[in-house]
Amino acid sequence: MNGRARVEITDAIKGVGINCKVPADQKSHISNLVHYCKDKGEQRPLLDISMSVRATLSEAYAGNLVFSFIENPLLRVETVKHRRTSSQNSTLRGIERFIYIAENGEEPTKEDMYWIHEGLLEQFSIWVTNPRTGVSLPKRTSDPSMSTTEMARIVHGALNTLSLISIPDEIMKLIGNDMKNLWEGWYKWRYEQKKDPLQELEAAMDWPRYKENHPVCELCALAGVDPDPIERMHIISAGADESIYEMPWNWLAAHRSHHTLQHSEGWGIIEKSYPHIVGKLKRARIMQGEKK
Ligand SMILES: [Zn+2]
Repeated sequence: MNGRARVEITDAIKGVGINCKVPADQKSHISNLVHYCKDKGEQRPLLDISMSVRATLSEAYAGNLVFSFIENPLLRVETVKHRRTSSQNSTLRGIERFIYIAENGEEPTKEDMYWIHEGLLEQFSIWVTNPRTGVSLPKRTSDPSMSTTEMARIVHGALNTLSLISIPDEIMKLIGNDMKNLWEGWYKWRYEQKKDPLQELEAAMDWPRYKENHPVCELCALAGVDPDPIERMHIISAGADESIYEMPWNWLAAHRSHHTLQHSEGWGIIEKSYPHIVGKLKRARIMQGEKK
């Protein structure tokens, strides 16, 4: 498409770009694509569509710019990476706040929150290279290409960090219940996804790495202690299916006392005391079904 197009400015973003209304003739192409995707039964958009065009500015008047295209506009269509949800973002904020309170015994300021966040990104986010400068830096949670899996790794790492801080009793009394909710919210979210966002990461782990990656009990979220260490529990028992017994999705890093209880009383009592684990147990049974 060559020629002139009138573009109405709808929003100017912090000096880096201008959002424009797409001319009507191109809009129909875009809405057809989006409509096509919705027809496939997907609720959320599957495509990211952006348009770039080289143009000269030929006229400008109140609220309107008139461009002359130098070459055909380029329409870029990409599949949408499943973005982190806002609930994950607020979970992470909650964890960051508790890390600060646990370490300092007081509410964090905005600046404290900033540095806690930076530290977690340095440890648990993937590192990317700025294509302009070649400088490596941790991927921001605000990065539009941040995927659910990448975000899940950060939340998982942050929760483990929090769980490993020895929190004074009087502070634990204040935040204990909220902390339990965070932990439960995370497991519930993780295993409610169509696919466990950390499944591939864990699939590559042997037991020592898995245990290192789960420094606290997956049931009660506390570290192992001398008479009650963290050990390997299996969700599907050995007799049922040899081939899946040592799959990481069949593992649970949990205290010996829970393990003993599960063997004597069954899973029911574990599910009742730690309902957040139900999703993971169900997922293992689904995985077992898929293996057959
Ligand atoms: Zn435990």
